[in-house]
Amino acid sequence: MTEAPTQAGTGQEVKYTTCYMCSCRCGIKVTIENGKIRYIQGNPDHPTNKGVICAKGSAGIMKQESPARIFSPLLRREGAERGAADFEQISWERAYDILTERLKKIRSTDPKKLAFFTGRDQMQALTGYFTKQFGTPNFAAHGGFCSVNMAAGMIYSIGGTGWEFGGPDWDRTRYVVLFGVAEDHDSNPFKIGISKLKDRGGKLVVINPVRSGYGAVADEWLPVKPGTDGALILGFLHVIIKNGLYDRDFLVSRTNSPQLVVMDEGWEDEGLFWREGKFDDNDHSQNFVWDLNTNSPKPYMGKGVKPALMGTFKTPDGKTVKTSFQLLAERVLNDYTPERVSAITGTPVEQIVRVALEMGVVARDEKITLPIEWTDAWGNHHATVTGNPVAIHGMRGLAAHSNGFQTVRAMSSLMMALGTIDRPGGFRHKPPYPRPIPPCPKPTDDPSLIKPNTPLASPQLGFPTKPENLMVNPDGTPVRIDKAYSWEFPLTAHGMMHNVITNAHRGDPYKIDTLMIFMANMAWNSTMNTSGVIEMLKDKEPDGSYKIPFLVTSDAFFSEMVAFSDLVLPDTTYLERYDVISLLDRPISEFDSVVDSIRQPILSPPEGCEPFQETLIKLAGRLGLPGFCDDAGKPKFTGYKDFVINWTVAPDTPMGFLAGWRGKDGDDHIIGEPNPSQIDMYIKNGCFFQFELEEAIQYNRNINQEYLNWALDHKLIRRNDPIIMRIYSEVLQRFRLAAKGTRPGRQPATKKQRDRLLKYFDPVPFWYPPIEDGAVDTKKYAIHAITQRPMPHYHSWDSQNAWLRQVMGQNFLYINPLKAQAIGVADMDWVWVESSHGKIRAQAKFSHAVQPDTVWTWNGMGKMRGAWNLDPKAEEATKGFLLNHLIAEELSDGTGGQVSNSDPITGQAAWYDLRVRIWKADEEGSWPQFTPLKPLAGMVKRPDILQYSSKKRRG
Ligand code: SF4
Repeated sequence: MTEAPTQAGTGQEVKYTTCYMCSCRCGIKVTIENGKIRYIQGNPDHPTNKGVICAKGSAGIMKQESPARIFSPLLRREGAERGAADFEQISWERAYDILTERLKKIRSTDPKKLAFFTGRDQMQALTGYFTKQFGTPNFAAHGGFCSVNMAAGMIYSIGGTGWEFGGPDWDRTRYVVLFGVAEDHDSNPFKIGISKLKDRGGKLVVINPVRSGYGAVADEWLPVKPGTDGALILGFLHVIIKNGLYDRDFLVSRTNSPQLVVMDEGWEDEGLFWREGKFDDNDHSQNFVWDLNTNSPKPYMGKGVKPALMGTFKTPDGKTVKTSFQLLAERVLNDYTPERVSAITGTPVEQIVRVALEMGVVARDEKITLPIEWTDAWGNHHATVTGNPVAIHGMRGLAAHSNGFQTVRAMSSLMMALGTIDRPGGFRHKPPYPRPIPPCPKPTDDPSLIKPNTPLASPQLGFPTKPENLMVNPDGTPVRIDKAYSWEFPLTAHGMMHNVITNAHRGDPYKIDTLMIFMANMAWNSTMNTSGVIEMLKDKEPDGSYKIPFLVTSDAFFSEMVAFSDLVLPDTTYLERYDVISLLDRPISEFDSVVDSIRQPILSPPEGCEPFQETLIKLAGRLGLPGFCDDAGKPKFTGYKDFVINWTVAPDTPMGFLAGWRGKDGDDHIIGEPNPSQIDMYIKNGCFFQFELEEAIQYNRNINQEYLNWALDHKLIRRNDPIIMRIYSEVLQRFRLAAKGTRPGRQPATKKQRDRLLKYFDPVPFWYPPIEDGAVDTKKYAIHAITQRPMPHYHSWDSQNAWLRQVMGQNFLYINPLKAQAIGVADMDWVWVESSHGKIRAQAKFSHAVQPDTVWTWNGMGKMRGAWNLDPKAEEATKGFLLNHLIAEELSDGTGGQVSNSDPITGQAAWYDLRVRIWKADEEGSWPQFTPLKPLAGMVKRPDILQYSSKKRRG
């Protein structure tokens, strides 16, 4: 770093750390004066943001001043009801005693009675390790209710996904298509990237029902109806394939497009690849293509073979086979004509065809060639790297639907067809991706291994490839409280946090004892059916005990969830602790380099607050968890910093949370012995580590042998076979065969499970209407309702931030004037919004920037009165509203039962499938309202600063 840590003569001190006002993780430079933060700037040397800072980032100073801070552990007062926020302040010692006693008992009897779920944290490597050592299968972070479809859909297709694991090559791309992206997680890099694209005269196309965020500066907006993007993408593929605009060489050499699929029905290998040898997901040399030179089947990528990309053939053993690409082409050419797609999506035919042709022509005619030599997995040396400069990126708008996995599979297929993956100008991976498809870790799959006082043998989360990887009992019932990895939701790579409270309340599949929640506002905006969930949290057994016996929440602030907890552990802010942004979790790598980072304490935490990381390390020590303790059962680590420095993946794998400055003297990277000075070295370098890959291994990494060897050597992957991308998914077909009963091994137990698998586990991407469409009267509930993330707020985090509240303190229901006029609603009218599940009152505001059949609002802005230590009359509570009350967490399964309102493949929460009707209300003010929360014990008085109290406004 070039900057001196102190500024002579000013009394000011400058420290570097990593922002956490959203998940982008920009590098920041914090100026401190008289023990307080004076201001926050972007770190110009940081690879993520290069000095750029956003409104949220610079408003971190007000997070420190938040009147919503909790200053001591809180225990629900004897006799007080949950939700009353009536707590006594207790010492940390007492909090530890309560927790230790309870958790020891659970662990020594039935570890799965602890459910541990975390929200928007960035320490899943630690929380996952803690719960694995504890021995409970009931762990996940928030991914299942966020964007698991984006992650799983791409990882199961191309071996990597977006945001921290990949993204548009902004330095070279000429045409960018953003699907379902508002203000993205990858926030400042996107802003920098879009300005680069525009400076170059490139085109930005935004596909979203709402033109907010980056849509505001897009060159073209396609206002699709929510949940129809999959059809649109398949329509694009129709045009691209029909006009021959696909990249044949790319499809043949990097995807399973030419591989031959057995079409004959009823056989064990129906719908699988015609192959020789033992089955191995990652060895494609066993699969066959049709060789046009010899007119016979030959091994994939065999020497001298000229594979057919399309066609139907007869194998020597009499089987009918088709290439994967033939199956995709048949599907899109027959089922997704621009006319049909237009009728589904609301996008004009002309626009569908033109945008598809633009993508195809730019990919074909504006190729970029760089003089970089590299060698592919079959030993062929290449003098250059070539790219098709179309970059496609999707986010939650695609993911948060019950058809999102197949939609993301379709998007991945479009990227494959355009030949635009890990090449200049296209989508590029970031280390540690790409990984084998799917990645090697599998979820814990044997319920008999859940034993008292015993760690799990493998992590709770992973990527199943077959029914045998599911976490089900011998009778097929789910083992996890959230029903992840069950027959209903087989590929639940991130768990299903949105089901936990409903299932725990019902005791389905069993009762739990303790639910620990970290950084998730599960009683408010981080849950569907908010009003119902609040009742479940308060609900009691006939004997007066709570149905969910013990609720523990760790939070730095007075969120709504805090009010419903039995024990509250006061966390610190991101400016008061050590954190790691780890390669083992969610790193911040760049396309051409491995990057990770830390946070350091800029200020000391207030007395009574403790970083949750420290709490977990201490708790693990008290519980005697293996991995945290020595053979005598004594704690091995003095605290989190010590843990980060000294913990390694395994005794023979000297890899830890941080990749930089490893080895005794800090000379190694990624792999190496612990270095006692590692954290100091990060701090000296501005709190980040960056290791640049050699040019020869920066592109084509799915099949770049030198890269694959390097990644294997550095333990980023477990095998170095070429990572062949999947137009056709055998994983999905395996589940279908289990449903058909033609595959040996585990089979679903019920007809309902079989029917779901047969319907949704299609190995070729397809579009189906969101499941809610089939469960509600869509004539009555004809309007789609969705949320978007605002630029100046991150989820519910910033309603306690005096500066950001001034930017935005009330959300509106944005409605297209065309629709409003049709239903008799005027601008700024209060309206009733009703779904099949519930009803809310909100204030409508006209906007032309929304698809006419859709209404939308900002996410997480409405508040329960008194929560976050806001004045009960604050506009967030009196005018702000929460759409979540309308979203059912379960839908009818059509046979008298209920099923989670989620994607049937991954369990992704279907937030954006909501259907509503709207009419003018006679009353004003948001509804429903709840009993106002009183300030917590030990909180600061509600201040009269700026807009924090509704009573006073500045100026
Ligand atoms: S984009 Fe996110 S991480 Fe970056 S400065 Fe803004 S709030 Fe901080």
